[in-house]
This record gives sequence, structure tokens and C-alpha cells, in this order.
Amino acid sequence: MTVLALDFETANERRDSACAVGLAWIADGRVVRRESHLIRPPEMRFSPGNIRVHGILPANVADEPDFGTVMAPYLEDLRRGLILAHNASFDIGVLRAGLARAGLPVPDLAYLCTVQVARRVFPAPEGCGLGKVARRLGIRFEHHDAGEDAFACAEIALAAMRERGARDVPALAAEIGLPITRAVGGPALPRRPQGAISGRAMAAFAQAPAALRFTMRGSTGNRYSVVLEEQPGGPQLRCTCTAGRYGLRCRHVKALEVGDITDLMSDNASEVALLARMLGVKARVAGAA
Ligand SMILES: [Zn+2]
Repeated sequence: MTVLALDFETANERRDSACAVGLAWIADGRVVRRESHLIRPPEMRFSPGNIRVHGILPANVADEPDFGTVMAPYLEDLRRGLILAHNASFDIGVLRAGLARAGLPVPDLAYLCTVQVARRVFPAPEGCGLGKVARRLGIRFEHHDAGEDAFACAEIALAAMRERGARDVPALAAEIGLPITRAVGGPALPRRPQGAISGRAMAAFAQAPAALRFTMRGSTGNRYSVVLEEQPGGPQLRCTCTAGRYGLRCRHVKALEVGDITDLMSDNASEVALLARMLGVKARVAGAA
């Protein structure tokens, strides 16, 4: 099975604003291939906070290929393989939103978060941010360069495999009781106009508001409803669980945002793919894990 680590940097707070990608393939207990590319995001708006993290400026990417062009050679490996990412919900969200924005189909994806791996195998009071774990393990890399971050993510998984005597990443996941997350994909949707979700697109979804309601299973077996609501800052998922009622992004919302349908009880997995499109707008600053 192909196993590859993935890391994105984004130009601004939107998930579909990738400006750099790094990939690192694992085989036979080592990193066997590395790739990194700059990406020209769909809009040339770079937030100061994001620039501070990765140092990429609009001028650096003005002549670079767009998301679909850069990612095309890797989509087959991403679709068929197991993806590793440090704080995977961010990178998987960027991948899905970028593909949706480019008018490409979003494939089904299988991934494992190396933050979760590190918490189980290399716990420490200082936490499991990429830089901290890498320092503890003696992995040398240049933090917040996408290629370097992907390499460090792969090395963390390799170190965890050695630590636990696991022969490969799926065996490691089984050994530490961390399930591989499966995110459901969906067909290509028509390209939407430049900028935020258009009123027309939103209106199309509003015609069937009941369709974007999902029933999720809570950890104690309770059922919660997650509904897509239109909010001043853009469409937003709201959940009926306790955290959701306090206005927090609960784990049910986070799961649906990345297409993780492990706990989806309602019979509408195909509609989860629509969310990548509707929610491409919200993301944390890259690398803030
Ligand atoms: Zn919830």
C-alpha cells in the first residue's frame, strides 16, 4: 500500500487557498521520495498571519501553476494510498476544498493524523506540535516549509513504527488503537464564481435545506443532528450536542468538515461531499497546530 505524508500551506484563512504543498512517500521503513511545490491560489490574497507562518509572498507564486495542475500527478497515490498528516483535519480539508474549488472530483480518502500517533507513542507535557515532536525525536527540518513539514510528518510515523515494532503504518495504527479515518468523496461540481460562495450557489442549496442535515453518533451512543446554517460569516455547521450548543466546533462538526463519516448515522453520506464545497471558506491559520 502506498503511504505518503501530506502538508499544505495556505495563503489566507480559506481552506481552498493552498499556496504550497509538500509530499513524502514511505516504503521499507524510510522516506523514499519527496516533492514540494508552490501553488498559485485562486485569489491572490495573502493574510499577514499566514505569511508570518510560511514566508510565502504573492510574488513567489504569481507564475506558479494552480492547485489542480500541481496536484494532478499525485491524485492517484492520494486516492489509493494512506495519507499521513500532522493535524490531518487541516490538510485533508485543504485537499478537499482545493479540488472542489478547481472543479475536480473529490476522491474517497484514507488518512491517519500523526498528532494522534505522537500523543499515543511520544506523549509529553509540552504537547505534540510538529516542531516539538520533531525536536524530541531529533528529526532535523525547516519548520513551515511544506516539503520539510511533510518529511518530518513521515519521519514521526517511521519513529513510531520503530518504537512499537510495527512493520508498516496500518500495523502501527492497529497496534496503538488509532483507526484509519475514511473520508467520503464526491463528483466534480461546477466551478463557482471567484470569491466567496455566491448567492446563487447558496440559493441552490437553500432550496433543499432539509437535505443538509446529518445525524451523528456521539461517543456514548447518543444521536445528534448537525445542520448547515447560513451565518453572517458564511455557511456553518451547527450541532445539537452539548459542545455544539455552546457554539463550539464539536467533534461531530469537525468530522463532517473533513468528510469523515465513521459516526454518520443518517443515510446521506453522498451529501457530505457537498460540504467540502460549502465550507471551503473556513480554516485556521496554516500550521497553528
Ligand atoms: Zn456535536
